[in-house]
Amino acid sequence: MMKAVLVPKMVTCQCGHTFESSRAKSWCEKCCRPVFYHDRDQRRHKIGNMYMIGVMAMVLMFIAYLFVEMIAAPLLSMQ
Ligand SMILES: [Zn+2]
Repeated sequence: MMKAVLVPKMVTCQCGHTFESSRAKSWCEKCCRPVFYHDRDQRRHKIGNMYMIGVMAMVLMFIAYLFVEMIAAPLLSMQ
């Protein structure tokens, strides 16, 4: 990938910290969250995070389902 030269501009982090950035992605020095030069990259990052949360929630629900089926149900039926 070609490293594009970006004109330094002020970017604002989610925590409100504003600093000058000339990279597509840089890290906030106050809260260590990624801050993107382009708004579309910030949106893409957010969508990626939401997708990850959705996958995690599904995995947790599946584990909870397995727990109920494999452990709780046999225990209840033994009584
Ligand atoms: Zn920050």
